[in-house]
Formats: sequence, C-alpha cells, structure tokens
Amino acid sequence: MTVTASPVPILKDNYAWLLRDSATGATAIVDPADPQPIIEAIEKAGGRLDMILLTHHHGDHIAGTDEVRARFHCPVVGATADRHRLPKLDKAVAEGDTVQLGNAVGQVIETPGHTRGQINFFFPDGPILLSGDTLFSLGCGRLIEGTADEMFASLAKLKALPPDTLVCCGHEYTESNGRFALAIDPENKDLHTFMGKVEQLRAAGQPSVPSRLGDELKANPFLLAADVGTFADARAKKDKF
Ligand code: ZN
Ligand code: FE
Repeated sequence: MTVTASPVPILKDNYAWLLRDSATGATAIVDPADPQPIIEAIEKAGGRLDMILLTHHHGDHIAGTDEVRARFHCPVVGATADRHRLPKLDKAVAEGDTVQLGNAVGQVIETPGHTRGQINFFFPDGPILLSGDTLFSLGCGRLIEGTADEMFASLAKLKALPPDTLVCCGHEYTESNGRFALAIDPENKDLHTFMGKVEQLRAAGQPSVPSRLGDELKANPFLLAADVGTFADARAKKDKF
C-alpha cells in the first residue's frame, strides 16, 4: 500500500481528503472547500502540498481552492467538462487521464449523475477511490443535473473496482443513508452489520468513512439495484424519505 487517505472534516458534514504517497511523501488534497482547517491539516502533516484535486463544481467542494493554492503554490486538477465553472485549472482531465502523486498514479473516472461534469479519482496503489458526491457510504448523490441512466452507469463503473477499495466520499451522510437503506431492505443482514459499526463510530465521534467497496456492494441499496428501473425508484424514494 503506497497511498493513504485521511478525512478532514469541514463545513457542516463535508470531508476533504488528504492523500499521501508513502514512498515519496507527496501529498494531495481533494475538495478543499474550507481553507482554514485544511491548511492546518496540511501543516500538521508536514506542510507539503503537491496537488489539489476537485471532484465537481459545487461550492461545498471547491470554495477554498484558491486560498489553499495561494498558500502552497500547487497545481489544481479538475474536469475538462466543467472548467468554465471550476476554479482556474492547471490541469484539466477527462475519462482515462491520469494524475501523478509521487510514485502513485490516479486514474480519472467520469461519473455524471449528481452533476454533469463529476469525476472520481482511483488510485490502484491503495486501493483508494475519491468518490465525491457520486457514491456515498450506503447511498449515492442526488440527481441534480444527470439522469438515473447516467448515474446507474456511473455506479456500474465504480462497482467494477477491486472490492478492497477504500471509498472516500464527500459527505458524512452514512447514518441517514443507512436508515433509508434499512427501510427498503429490512432483511439485509450485511446492512444491519454495517449499520452497527457505523453507529459505534459515530457515537465515538469518529468518521464513518472510508468504507470498503466490498461491504458497500452487499449493503448499499443503490449498488444492489439490479437494473436502472429499480435504481431510479430507490433514488426517487430517498429524495422524499
Ligand atoms: Zn455536490
Ligand atoms: Fe457536496
């Protein structure tokens, strides 16, 4: 394992993620929406920042980008499709492109659904997925700009990643996602086990994330949906839950 990821809690319920390539010490921050706690976390980790990665254009993911860039003078990477509404990009990327963090390589996966230009980053040397507002623990992002078909196809790409992948998502929504999941899938033993662990972590004041993709595959109703109709139905019910 060469890349590690630690959550930095910011705003009300967001997570930025601090990535570190252990071979070289190279460091990246994902979605630095609140500059002060992020600059503090980077200083505490050694004061080195090599790259800023952005998953999508929403303010709760990008707002602190220019301040963090000005402090550490590092390049900002985001989606080509959204460059008109992201902070100024030093590197614009699309499906199949890669980013280099020290010795580690991150793969860009386009995951439209929550927003049209959403991207995720996958580091096989982790394995670590930065899933933004596409895949949450026990949930998925709301369809703000995309269709159910698009989101279902995006989640299908993520489902194909290795089951030991650590899912590093953009929000601490797991408990409320889990309550919905239990309402529509009450007999799911894996889901009950998953929620038991989540409740322990949250009661202890710990983040519930990252989770393992293999556990999400057995408990997350949006990954369990066998077809796009089932997915769309679950997504519509969650919006009203
Ligand atoms: Zn968002
Ligand atoms: Fe968000």
